[in-house]
Amino acid sequence: MINFQHLPPCGDINASKNRLHYCTEQGLLRHAVATELHGHGDGFQALVKAHLNLGKHCQDTGLILSLNAHIWGSIFPLILYGNATQKQAWLPSLLSGELIAGHAITEPQAGSDVNALTTTAVATESGFILNGHKRFITNTPIADALLIYAKLDGKLSGFLVKKTDSGAHFDDQPSVTGCASATMGDVILQDCLIPLDRQLGKTGAGGMMIQNALELERAFIFAGIIGIMQWQLEQVVQFSRQRLSNGLHLGANQAISHKIAEMQCRVDTCLLWVNECARLKDTGKRISLASAQTKLIASEAFLQSSLDAVQIFGASGLLKENKMLGLVQDAMASRLFSGSSEIQKNIIAALIGTGAGYKGKA
Ligand SMILES: Cc1cc2nc3c(=O)[nH]c(=O)nc-3n(C[C@H](O)[C@H](O)[C@H](O)COP(=O)(O)OP(=O)(O)OC[C@H]3O[C@@H](n4cnc5c(N)ncnc54)[C@H](O)[C@@H]3O)c2cc1C
Repeated sequence: MINFQHLPPCGDINASKNRLHYCTEQGLLRHAVATELHGHGDGFQALVKAHLNLGKHCQDTGLILSLNAHIWGSIFPLILYGNATQKQAWLPSLLSGELIAGHAITEPQAGSDVNALTTTAVATESGFILNGHKRFITNTPIADALLIYAKLDGKLSGFLVKKTDSGAHFDDQPSVTGCASATMGDVILQDCLIPLDRQLGKTGAGGMMIQNALELERAFIFAGIIGIMQWQLEQVVQFSRQRLSNGLHLGANQAISHKIAEMQCRVDTCLLWVNECARLKDTGKRISLASAQTKLIASEAFLQSSLDAVQIFGASGLLKENKMLGLVQDAMASRLFSGSSEIQKNIIAALIGTGAGYKGKA
């Protein structure tokens, strides 16, 4: 098991980068990656275990978001869609953390609706020319490269864009209050020229690439967050034993102990779901439905447990130095990133043959 005792402290953008690098040095990016691709050669269950351990020790949702954006937004698309030359050129440095990356889908006018994306790519003899504006992209200020989705001949496609490419601007604004230690920002592409070998996947494969990346992110991002929820629960139990009210410890009040019992159930339910996704992946099965269910259940559970934790701590839960209020903001962000709770419900309904997408007869 990895030792997180020497994890650098939280702070500015450099601190975020250092914390991410510490995790990469511990081999956290190599789980569920084959040994011939420089991975550990283990499975998704090992990945879940390692991320759970990280969450419990770092209690930093931002770090977990940053790590997951890098893994599912760049490493796995390279593994799934990269040709042999691209894998050789990119994977070793992405896995070692020498290169930090992520994926840029969202735009100021298009979040949930990926069909509304307007960023374009045009093929020329000297390379692709990209124009567009991406927003709320995790890791942008610390990223060396991003997988950017743009329309080529009207078809959604993936392109690897480096920070140093001419016409590419990776900004550190705007940022959101939740998951604060994960850096984020806008990407502005103004006649950004990239070589032709930077297209990842086929023209028009972008929709499928986004779906696959988000399915994985939704399934496994909560492995680390459940570690934080376990820590949160331990803090609440400890507080309920120490704090007195009417001469009795807080937990003696059913109103409090029932909240704590529900927190315990949420942690265990989330863990069962994440482990189920790992089991499905490790046995070569699809996770479309399970990952949407996991994301929906876990983000709602994280928010409710974080609200309950603040309530149980009383006013001290609102103290700046108490992490509990920050977790409420992180949980709100978790209901939006990787697709909102409403979108997960749309996916679940569609996959079981109902909802807005159903075109059959009643
Ligand atoms: C912390 C954080 C990190 C992020 N990191 C990234 C990143 O790395 N890369 C990236 O590309 N994006 C990233 N995002 C953006 C994220 O993917 C979007 O916020 C998300 O897809 C929702 O889009 P939106 O915010 O534009 O809301 P909108 O799509 O405008 O939706 C607004 C509200 O309407 C609801 N809604 C919209 N459409 C429907 C519908 N069809 N049915 C029901 N309800 C609907 C939504 O659920 C939401 O509640 C990040 C966001 C956050 C908060």
